[in-house]
Amino acid sequence: MTADTPAGPEAPPPCPICGKPAAPAFRPFCSKRCADVDLQRWLSGRYAIPGRPEDAVADGEEPEA
Ligand SMILES: [Zn+2]
Repeated sequence: MTADTPAGPEAPPPCPICGKPAAPAFRPFCSKRCADVDLQRWLSGRYAIPGRPEDAVADGEEPEA
């Protein structure tokens, strides 16, 4: 873990959702709202994952790069 934050040694990384400075209570997010947004994205991402239909043969073609 290399600290390459130009803002300072104690400066947390910016919120990955909106880019604002992260809050210690919600880091790496700036607020509970952004944490919830990320959580929803994560959950929806999981649910959006296709169930790997092994009957369907994807012959070297990946639409989701
Ligand atoms: Zn944020």
